[in-house]
Amino acid sequence: MNTSSPYVSSCPVGCSAALEDTALRVTEGALRRCTGCGQLLSSATEAQYLRSLGRFDTSAGTLPDARSQLRHDKNSARRLGKLLAVLGRPSSTVRLLDVGCSSGAFLQSALRLGFTAEGVEPSADAAQTARTAGLKVFTGYLEQAQFADASFDAITLIEIVEHLRDAHSLLQECARILKPGGVVLVTTPNAHSWTARAMGARWAGFSLNDMGGHISFFNPHSIGLLATRCGLQTHHIETRNVRFFERGQCNPAQHAVAKIAAELLNWPARLAGTGHDLHAYLQRPLQ
Ligand SMILES: [Zn+2]
Repeated sequence: MNTSSPYVSSCPVGCSAALEDTALRVTEGALRRCTGCGQLLSSATEAQYLRSLGRFDTSAGTLPDARSQLRHDKNSARRLGKLLAVLGRPSSTVRLLDVGCSSGAFLQSALRLGFTAEGVEPSADAAQTARTAGLKVFTGYLEQAQFADASFDAITLIEIVEHLRDAHSLLQECARILKPGGVVLVTTPNAHSWTARAMGARWAGFSLNDMGGHISFFNPHSIGLLATRCGLQTHHIETRNVRFFERGQCNPAQHAVAKIAAELLNWPARLAGTGHDLHAYLQRPLQ
C-alpha cells in the first residue's frame, strides 16, 4: 500500500460500493462516505492511525477514575441488564466475552452482577493490569484467541468497531463463537446523530487523535446492514443523548444554554434514532 493512501480503502460494513469525498474536513483530510450504506470513513494513513492508537496503549487502559466510577458502574449495569432482558435469562447462566476489554472495568461490573465473564485485549499492558486484578483476559485480537464454535451467550464490543478497518471480519467471528440465540452488544458513536450533524467536522467523534484511532463512523442503518451480512439479526437498536458542548468550544454561558438545549432534545433524539450513543443488540438466530 502507498504510505500516503488512506488506511481504510473500502467500506468496513462490507459494501462494494464506491467511496466519495464529503465536505467534512478534519485534520487528516476530507472524510469519505460509502455510497452504499452512508458509513463515513477517515482519510488517515496507516502511520497516522497507528500513532493515534499508541497514545492510548497504557497499562491503566480505560479504568475509570474515582469521579467517573459511579457513572461507569451505572452505565455498565444498564447495558448488562438489557442484555439479560434480550436473552431472557439470569446472569448466573450467562457466559460473557468482552472484546477489547482494556484493563477490565466492564468485566468487573459483569462479575459483580453474577455473570461468568472474560475478555480479549490486544494491548499487553492493559491486559496484564486486568489479569493482575484477577480477571481472565487473553492478550491479542479476537481471531487469535481461537474460541470454539458456540462458546458464549453474550459478547460486548464497547466502543470498538469505530477503531477498525474491517468490522465485518470481527462481527463474523462473534457470530461464530456465539451460541444460537446469543447476543452481541455493539456500542459506538452515531455519525447520524443530531450532535454529529450540528458539530460537523468539529464533532469529537471524528477526531482521530482525541479518540485514539477513530476511523470508521457508523449510523443505525450501517450497523443493521453489518449485522445482516454477518449472519446476525437486529434485535433492536437504540440511541441516547444529545451533546452540543464538546471539546470546550464555548464559554460558560454558552455551555449552560447548550446543556439545557441538549437535555430538552434527549427524548426526541431517542425516539428519532438520532441520539449520540448508538447501542445495537444483535442476535444469532436460533437455527
Ligand atoms: Zn458501506
